[in-house]
Amino acid sequence: MLIGSYSPSLVVISLFVAILASYTALDMAGRIATTKGRAIYLWMTGGALAMGVGVWSMHFIGMLALRLPFALGFDMGITALSLLIAVLSSGFALWLVSQQRLPLWQLLFGALVMGAGISCMHYTGMAAMRMTPGIDYDPTLFGASLLIAVIASGAALWIAFNLRRNTPYVRLARAGAAVVMGVAIVGMHYTGMAAAQFADDSFCGAALSGLSGKGLDNLVLVTSLSVLIIALLTSLLDARLEARTAVLADSLTLANQELTHLALHDMLTGLPNRLLLSDRIQQAMQTVHEQSGCFALMFIDLDGFKPINDAFGHHMGDQLLREVGLRLREDLRSQDTLARIGGDEFVLLVQLMQPEDAMALAARQVELINRVFTVAEHDLKISASIGIALFPGNGSKPEELLMNADAAMYHAKGMGKNGYSFFDVSMNTNARKQLQLLQDLRNALEHRQFRLHYQPKFDAVSGRAVGAEALLRWEHPQQGLLLPATFIELAEKSGLIIPIGEWVLNEACRQMALWRLKGYHDWRIAVNLSALQFCHSGLVKSVAVALDRHQLPANSLTLEITETTAMSDADASMTVLQQLSDMGVDLSIDDFGTGYSSLMYLKRLPANELKIDRGFVRDLEHDSDDAAIVSAIVALGQALGLRIVAEGVETDVQQTFLTRLGCDALQGYFLGHPLPADSFMANIQRAEGAAVPDKNGV
Ligand code: C2E
Ligand code: MG
Ligand code: MG
Repeated sequence: MLIGSYSPSLVVISLFVAILASYTALDMAGRIATTKGRAIYLWMTGGALAMGVGVWSMHFIGMLALRLPFALGFDMGITALSLLIAVLSSGFALWLVSQQRLPLWQLLFGALVMGAGISCMHYTGMAAMRMTPGIDYDPTLFGASLLIAVIASGAALWIAFNLRRNTPYVRLARAGAAVVMGVAIVGMHYTGMAAAQFADDSFCGAALSGLSGKGLDNLVLVTSLSVLIIALLTSLLDARLEARTAVLADSLTLANQELTHLALHDMLTGLPNRLLLSDRIQQAMQTVHEQSGCFALMFIDLDGFKPINDAFGHHMGDQLLREVGLRLREDLRSQDTLARIGGDEFVLLVQLMQPEDAMALAARQVELINRVFTVAEHDLKISASIGIALFPGNGSKPEELLMNADAAMYHAKGMGKNGYSFFDVSMNTNARKQLQLLQDLRNALEHRQFRLHYQPKFDAVSGRAVGAEALLRWEHPQQGLLLPATFIELAEKSGLIIPIGEWVLNEACRQMALWRLKGYHDWRIAVNLSALQFCHSGLVKSVAVALDRHQLPANSLTLEITETTAMSDADASMTVLQQLSDMGVDLSIDDFGTGYSSLMYLKRLPANELKIDRGFVRDLEHDSDDAAIVSAIVALGQALGLRIVAEGVETDVQQTFLTRLGCDALQGYFLGHPLPADSFMANIQRAEGAAVPDKNGV
């Protein structure tokens, strides 16, 4: 019986290689678990090769560490076979731990297969020596080596499976596990070696023809270490790349979430916007369909917000809206949706136990808004008008519900604001009519349905015509001739007033040019401007173009703007008015006395004319206050060097009175109705004809 000895340095190196191979295997298992697609197979193949080479070379170095009193060699073919077995069983192990789950029976089965694989590799490797007589194995130690191989494989599989996900300190845990695994593999090897008994007359059959000689250990060592290190580095670099990709993906997800939030919320108040609201309405409808119950949609519009916005500026307006949003939320539950869908329009979606509950909530919301708001040290007072639509009952689609709540809100406004109204079918027809009218209005310009009627203005003292005011009419195909009261607001809301206003300006100038040709050189044509036109940047240019096109001197055009329009954004109006005035255009303040009539401000305006509102004129005969106001306005206008025009003169008493008070010009049904250009001119000429004999004293 021959006693062999071991080279200590090679034993240590074999242990090191075993640990390194184990670590590489664990790292590869981690890679496979976090990779997707075809790359998994690449990692699996690479991993099987690296680990197989690692385990095998540990074993081979362990064999080389053995010193026996005769020359040793290894049969090439059998050695290659043992390497193949190592690679295959490593591949199997990696495949097993990369599965979603690893139930106990599978773990046990895997341990058996892998243990068998390793043992097979070991004893095939031993067979590569081709000893004669054959090696005698001690049955106990042989059995122990098999047992160790199976147990070590089981432990290795279990550890690799549990460490495959990237958890905190995973590298440290893998390093520890690699040491345990390495020791187990080495343990198996040397137990197997201890089992081998060589007879005294042993002869190594592979010593002559097989692999042998000095330096073989170094060659195996360098090659296997290179394979392991390359595999490990690739794996580490890839993991780092993946981590970086994961960070990028995370920030992309975050950016996406932010974008979604922005797309679904109102920037100013942070409340849901119209898009999110309609989604929530849809969901609420679904819930009612599935579980019954009901909900209310409340359309909340602020009363008196615009004047505050105009007077204090947008900054204050914005802040007030934010406060309103906060206050409206005060009384709500987390499942209720409060959205802002436009300037000062909010919509509330609330689940109800019973429809009547909506009333109490609406009343509370009205009350909340009615309390004073303190914004930037200003005490502001506004109110809210709320329209309520109920589901089921008041509509079957989100848009329909919203439109009905809107109609109910208008009703609440009509009832005196600062209150709420439940939707009723009669309101719907109204809303629908408005919608239809808006559609018709969009086509009106193209279909040439607009007309201008002209109402004469007369010199109060001489009674001579001094010009006319152009008043817009709409020849509606079904509804006949419509007055501005029925469509101007709609035109303003929809922005259509801009092209319509341009048409009016142009048409009035064209008419005035014709009258000038007839000899009425000193007349002025008055055109009304709405607030929106006044704010529009193109106004000054449009006026210049219209005058130029019809060869009109600027001062034969009077632009009438209402007092409220002129005062609403004082500084901006001042600039526009100054530009128009510099061009030589005549400016008139319409409906004077109905607004806030800031005298300070009036003094700074480059206006030429004041038109006393017809409300004062109407009650002149009966109301001494109105008489006092009119005479005050006349005095004021005279002091400021303005022409005073009284509109709405309906009786001769009014005419006499206003003339006596000192008005410069008069306009009203008593003197002439608004009429189409030809009838207007016929009347003027008739009056002139009648006046001629009078003048001549015939
Ligand atoms: P406004 O500028 O104050 O025009 C005078 C309004 O009073 C006209 O009503 C006219 O028909 C009416 N009126 C004239 N004399 C009398 C009278 O003796 N008694 C009574 N009760 N009323 C009289 P209309 O034509 O219905 O126009 C109403 C308002 O519509 C105008 O008020 C003006 O603000 C606006 N408007 C008219 N045409 C245009 C336009 O082309 N553009 C813009 N933006 N607004 C216009
Ligand atoms: Mg007017
Ligand atoms: Mg007026």
